Amino acid sequence: MDWIERARELARGFSERAPDHDRAGTFPFENFEELREAGFFGLTVPRRFGGSEASLGEYLGVLEAIAYGDGSTALSFMMHLKTFGQEREAPAYPTEWVERMARGSVERGELVNTVATEEGLGSPAGGGMPDTTAVRDGEGWRLSGRKTFTTLAPLLHYFIVLARVDEPGGRPRLANFMVLRDDPGLRIEETWDSLGMRATGSHDAVFEDIRLGADRLLNARNQGGADARGGAGMAWFALGLCAVTLGVATAARDYAVAYARERTPNSNRTIKEYPGVRTRIARMDLLLQRSRALMEDACAAWESGARGGMPALNRIAAAKVDTLNSCIEAVDLAMRVVGGVSLQKRRPIERYWRDVRAPLHNPPIEDRALEMLARSALDEPVEPPQAAE
Ligand SMILES: Cc1cc2nc3c(=O)[nH]c(=O)nc-3n(C[C@H](O)[C@H](O)[C@H](O)COP(=O)(O)OP(=O)(O)OC[C@H]3O[C@@H](n4cnc5c(N)ncnc54)[C@H](O)[C@@H]3O)c2cc1C
Repeated sequence: MDWIERARELARGFSERAPDHDRAGTFPFENFEELREAGFFGLTVPRRFGGSEASLGEYLGVLEAIAYGDGSTALSFMMHLKTFGQEREAPAYPTEWVERMARGSVERGELVNTVATEEGLGSPAGGGMPDTTAVRDGEGWRLSGRKTFTTLAPLLHYFIVLARVDEPGGRPRLANFMVLRDDPGLRIEETWDSLGMRATGSHDAVFEDIRLGADRLLNARNQGGADARGGAGMAWFALGLCAVTLGVATAARDYAVAYARERTPNSNRTIKEYPGVRTRIARMDLLLQRSRALMEDACAAWESGARGGMPALNRIAAAKVDTLNSCIEAVDLAMRVVGGVSLQKRRPIERYWRDVRAPLHNPPIEDRALEMLARSALDEPVEPPQAAE
């Protein structure tokens, strides 16, 4: 099965639905049903649990293809797929839970995501402690708190929730807990009303004194300690964001090029003949090619080791920063090629302009990625990734 070709086919339908979901801020349930039916839910799941165990490169190709049709669907689906890619390389959760999530996803169409960000905390990658708390309750736990940016919330089955654990006499610890959709006390508040990626359903998840058995504690670490997913967490997350962004920007580029070929203002030349338009078209392709090259280079370095030059993880940081900025610039150029009508809501290009910006705010954010490169260049110790969210 050529997953990338199949994703392209599905994405044609996603692109037709995207304007309505974007306008209303609704979740594209139909897209996920089609992805499930076509077997994509198990794309990155290990073969031993019935999945397809796609490589990092295949995963990126699929995300880019989906994002070409709808950035929101691609970004949301990425959150599920990356969980298994990371876990294959750097086991972070108990085997029983990995098997249950994996089989649940392949056999029952259940989706997974990490639910870490909070209003007060911001990104957990900053190293702060969450306000969501887990306190011991007999053998088990009671979990309370509120999470923001819970992507996939309308469909999520497995919520991997980052909480603070205060043990008597000890330092507070960071721990991940498994919360299931039908656990009493879990509530989704439909708060997601954003500029871009409006159809990702990234609502608030509220945990009201949820009782969890002892087996729901997935892992724990001290504040400042390395995330168990380590570099694999960053590789699957950051490069996934590059692929999503590249898919959205390529859709904008193709729209602008098609427009430039056709658009002939009355009694005038077709706009593709104007030097300014031609320069912008060439520049878009340069930016997109640079993005693709950086993403593929970082992916190859991660999969087979870097031979000379930057270490693989630094290439991933560099690719995240440069791809996102280049894709934002490319979509901006696409808007200028199309001209004033690019602002019209009835055209997809204004949605591309909004969607392409969102992954800027997913880790590694630019300043942390640049700091990582600077430390490496200056032979200073590089801090381990603290979280992938
Ligand atoms: C579309 C979308 C989907 C998302 N999905 C999920 C999800 O499924 N699960 C989840 O847990 N989270 C998710 N997130 C949240 C995301 O991963 C980040 O945690 C969140 O965007 C951070 O918000 P913030 O910029 O307000 O954070 P803050 O950490 O408050 O940062 C605010 C500003 O300060 C800067 N800053 C903060 N710390 C530093 C530092 N140490 N050095 C330099 N600058 C710093 C940041 O760059 C930013 O400009 C999603 C975000 C988006 C946009």
